[in-house]
Formats: sequence, C-alpha cells, structure tokens
Amino acid sequence: MNREKSNHLYERAKKVIPGGVNSPVRAFKSVNNTPFYVKSADGAYLVDEDGFRYLDYVLSWGAIILGHAHPGLIEEVSKAISVGTSFGACHRYEIELAERIVEAFPSIDMVRLTSSGTEATMSAIRLARGYTGKEGIIKFIGCYHGHVDALLVKAGSGLVTFGIPDSKGIIADYAKHTYIADFNSIESVHRIIKNNKNIACVIIEPVMGNMGVILPEETFLKDLESMCRENEILLIFDEVITGFRLIYGGAQHIYNIKPDITCLGKIIGGGFPIGAFGGRKDIMDILAPTGDVYQAGTLSGNPVAVRAGIYTLDYLKKNQSIYKQMYEYSTTLEKEILDLANSYGIPYRINKITGMWTGFFADTDIHNYAGAIKSDRQLYERFFKLMLEEGIFFAPSPFEASFLSLNHKEDELIKTIDAFKKVFKRLSHG
Ligand SMILES: *Cc1c(COP(=O)(O)O)cnc(C)c1O
Repeated sequence: MNREKSNHLYERAKKVIPGGVNSPVRAFKSVNNTPFYVKSADGAYLVDEDGFRYLDYVLSWGAIILGHAHPGLIEEVSKAISVGTSFGACHRYEIELAERIVEAFPSIDMVRLTSSGTEATMSAIRLARGYTGKEGIIKFIGCYHGHVDALLVKAGSGLVTFGIPDSKGIIADYAKHTYIADFNSIESVHRIIKNNKNIACVIIEPVMGNMGVILPEETFLKDLESMCRENEILLIFDEVITGFRLIYGGAQHIYNIKPDITCLGKIIGGGFPIGAFGGRKDIMDILAPTGDVYQAGTLSGNPVAVRAGIYTLDYLKKNQSIYKQMYEYSTTLEKEILDLANSYGIPYRINKITGMWTGFFADTDIHNYAGAIKSDRQLYERFFKLMLEEGIFFAPSPFEASFLSLNHKEDELIKTIDAFKKVFKRLSHG
C-alpha cells in the first residue's frame, strides 16, 4: 500500500503542526504507523488522498452515527449556513436542541451548550464544586473526560497508549484534589469517601469507551448512585460518547440511573464541534447569569452545529430501528469473529454494547483498566496494519472503541468478516 500523497502531506504537516496532528491519536504512533489523509467521506467509507478507500469503524470517534455526508444532514446544514455561520446572540435553534435533550434525558431539566466535550466536563466539575462548596473529584482509572487539567489523571486511550500516565504542564495543585477509583469496584470508591468529607463529585463514563469498551457490572452504577446520594456527592455521567449511541437517552436510560449532571458531545453536533452539560434545575440555576458559577463560549450554541445536532436527534428519534440494526450487526460480527479467533487459536475477547465494541487480544475477560492494559499491543499493531491493507479502518490504538453507523449494513458486515478471516489467518502464522 503506497500512501505517497499522504506521506508527503504528513511531512508537510510536521513542519507547521506539532507532531503533524491536531489531536495525538491521529498520528497513528501507538500502532507504529503514519497517518493517511482523508480526501472525502461518504456513508460508511473514507477515501484518502492516494485514492484508497476504507470501511470506517472510527467514525470521528463515534460522532458520525448517520454515516458520512448524510444527504439530509448536508441539506439542513447548507440551509443553516446560508443564513449566517455565527451570531454571538440568541437564536431559536439553541432552544430547540436544548428541548430535545431535556426530553430525551429525564435527569436533565436544563442544559447549556459548549463547543467541545472537554468544555462540558470542565464546566460540569466547576459547577459541582460551586454547588457543593467542596473540592475533591473522584474519577476512574482509564476513563477519559477530555483534556481538562484536573481530569487528565490516569485517563485512557491516547494517554495510555503513549505510556504517559499524566501530562506535563499540569501543576500538582490542580491534580491534587483528583482521586482515582477502579471501574467496577464500588469498594475503591468507598475507600476514598470514607477518609474524605470534601468530595464534590464523582465523574464516570457509565460505559467506558476510552479504555476500549468496558461494561459496568451488575449493580456497580446503582451502588455508585446510592453512595453519592448518601454522602451528598454529585454524580456526573460523562455520556459524550454514549448519549445517543446506545439508545435514544443514553446509558442512564439503560441502567436506570439519574445522575445529577450529564455531559454530552459528539453525536449531538452531527459531526460539528459541540458539547453540552445539563442536570437538575437547582444545580444548573447557579450558573451565570442566574448564579455565580461562571461559564461562557464565543461559539457556544453555534447555529450550524446546533442545526446539525437537531437534524441528527430527530432522525434517530424517528428511526429508532437504527439501534436494533446496530445491535444485530454487532451481535453477528461478535459471533463470527469469536468463531474465527477460536479456529485460528487467537486469544481474543469482545466487549460490546449497541453501537460500539472493542476486540481485545487477551485471554481473559476484561472488566477494568488493569485487565485492558494487559491485552497484547503488538498483536493489535499487526492487526491494525493488516486491516488497513484490507481496506478497513479500526482505531489506531488498542484502547479505543469501534463504532457503527446507519450505513454499516450487510455488505460491510460481509467485507469485515472476510477481512477478519484473512487477518487472523496471517496472525496465526506468526
Ligand atoms: C471525546 C470525549 C470527551 C471530550 O470531547 P472533546 O469534544 O474531544 O473535547 C469527553 N468525554 C468522553 C467520554 C469522550 O469520549
């Protein structure tokens, strides 16, 4: 696979953009590769500058649930752009998106829009601290909540694959109020709370996506919810990925939890930069201008992003069969892949939920960070390269989720299973 044009662009990029990329995982470093440059995208596929076509399981890290360049969305966005790209003043569509979010999430009475998921989690934490008058934050090892200083401690994906547990430039004073618990271990949360009365909030990805997909076990989220209530700690669900991906209404709907604050992003912008955080009215009311927790954004509620988001949510609401379609696709895929892994003697585990899954090269089930980190990275690196040669783009890191869109159908399923057959065969020959 001669990616001449991409390689040339990468050399050019490295001169003017740090590492050539605007977000670290895009450099393909953790799979010892160099990036391809996308020229266009359509449905379930990406086409690069050299003309190679890839079946896309990254989908802008889960944001693109309707598929790339979805015709109805493009039409809506074109209409939006033709009447102005940013107002810096109020418009009706920001209310319409907020109303849809409030309707979809019983735990959300009010919601504020931001331009990224990072801003949403950063603001949610400020809000929790402002509301409770307490300082501490509990997060889970391997969960990623954007690159907020206080949350960039033991975060997943890019940070783990680079082997940097923390980032330089984060002063100890910012991180010292962040306590780390173990996903699926209520005991680890209890240990922190027992000795510390100053915890403002617990923030969690209810279904982990950023250490690969890791599902919450039986009563873990329920126990977490009760423990938070008993100790007057706010529970923040980071549903930036899961919000409208698992079901219309997010992981909290599936697991029947009412978090105090919910963070959203990715899908709710239909592929445009967006984030949101919302929750109970008495909490949200303390935000400026009604209250004294400050939070703002020049492009927050951007009319183009918001109209793309409204279109996406309306489409999902009207066509909820898409969730069934994604479930069936991933269930068939899971079964076929595990059969292949079995017959080729490849140690493989799949963690999956509607719309997203991760295949780990591992011989034990994976329930937390410690399990995921033990999976075989060298095998993943070879898998990634071979899959790319088969025209399939999986995440350039073993600790990420694979995502589905509306456009992943029968043909894509067959193509994927065929590729797994070839790739596992190659891997089994050492
Ligand atoms: C992507 C992501 C974020 C950060 O969102 P950005 O828009 O990249 O800032 C936060 N939390 C989770 C769970 C995410 O997956």
